[in-house]
Amino acid sequence: MNRVVVNYLLCFCAGSIFSLGAIAAINQASWLPVTLFGNRELAAVFRVVSPAIVAFTALVLLAFYWDSAARLASRVLGTGTPTQRSGPNAADRGLRSQREVTAVRDELERQLGRLIVLIASQLKNSTDHVASLKDTNAHLATVTDVTEIRDVVQSLIEKNETNERQTRDLEQRLKEAQDQASVLKQRLSQAEKLASLDPLTSVANRRRFEQFIADEVQRSHQLGTPLCLIMTDIDHFKKVNDRYGHSAGDSVLKAFAELLSRSVRGGDLVARYGGEEFAVVLPQTPMGDAFGIAERIRCTFERNGGVDEAVVNDLGRMTASFGVAEIREGEPPSELVRRADQMLYEAKHSGRNTTMIWSSATSPSEHV
Ligand code: GH3
Ligand code: MG
Ligand code: MG
Repeated sequence: MNRVVVNYLLCFCAGSIFSLGAIAAINQASWLPVTLFGNRELAAVFRVVSPAIVAFTALVLLAFYWDSAARLASRVLGTGTPTQRSGPNAADRGLRSQREVTAVRDELERQLGRLIVLIASQLKNSTDHVASLKDTNAHLATVTDVTEIRDVVQSLIEKNETNERQTRDLEQRLKEAQDQASVLKQRLSQAEKLASLDPLTSVANRRRFEQFIADEVQRSHQLGTPLCLIMTDIDHFKKVNDRYGHSAGDSVLKAFAELLSRSVRGGDLVARYGGEEFAVVLPQTPMGDAFGIAERIRCTFERNGGVDEAVVNDLGRMTASFGVAEIREGEPPSELVRRADQMLYEAKHSGRNTTMIWSSATSPSEHV
């Protein structure tokens, strides 16, 4: 059966039992138990157990709707932030990727240390060998006896063989170290990639966004090239969670992130800014083009860009709002983010499903 119907039925049953129990508990000696059971003994038992029924059904309701209750409580008490639905698992995964990066870096450092020791010891062997050859040469000048000469030659051959063995050994160990280093390098780049991704949607995470926008804004200032930032947020996203549960909400987030990624070029960056808000950094892109991109994404999403059909059928089409700003001369990234965010805020306030661009001509904004 449809999950929503089951939810409503459960809520209805638990709610009814709760209400009956509560009424009976309040009206200890009144009409309700007798009306319900038509029997005074049963009614007496019901009156006694009714507080327990109330407590039990309240617990059942709380267990089913714990999430909503917690959010409501934090809103009423003004504590906490909206739940990040990628949840502790996502945070854990982020932390694990970070730990993996540190672990691989440490291992690479240790590997480098071992190599340095190896090469230093081989250098010492070679220096010893040269010194020993010099000694032998000096000794040879004083030798007259043929047998003694043969002994000297024999010792020379042995020393050379030892030296050759050591060189071969070093070659072998260097090769092993090289192989290990390339495996570690691969692991490092994989771990670094994971540590910069949002685990739910696989687009860049907030940390990567901050790095990327700082680098690109700097480049834009140096080269005098344009750069735009789109901030976008899914409209009325909470309804999806509330009616279909968080896993349905998660799949809408994934679909939206995929749509964003499909709609930009290789040098651009799509990042999850937080919750259901995403940022798109467009280097070397003037406002006109950025606006076109935002509008294309908005229209595709509105036409059901990958969102589950059941969600669309029930809630109506899903939409998103967009705010766009272009970098100004010497402006820091934080200011660009603030202006794009302000446009997003205005897009929400002007009815949602719209794109607002920051335009200096019609300051502070232009409704499109
Ligand atoms: P608006 O049009 O004004 O943006 O309304 P909204 O409902 O989209 O925004 P609101 O800020 O009221 O609610 C956003 C919701 O997004 C609340 C939060 O629990 C939910 N959310 C945040 N992160 C995630 C996530 O990773 N997965 C899911 N399923 N929900 C999330
Ligand atoms: Mg929203
Ligand atoms: Mg939001």
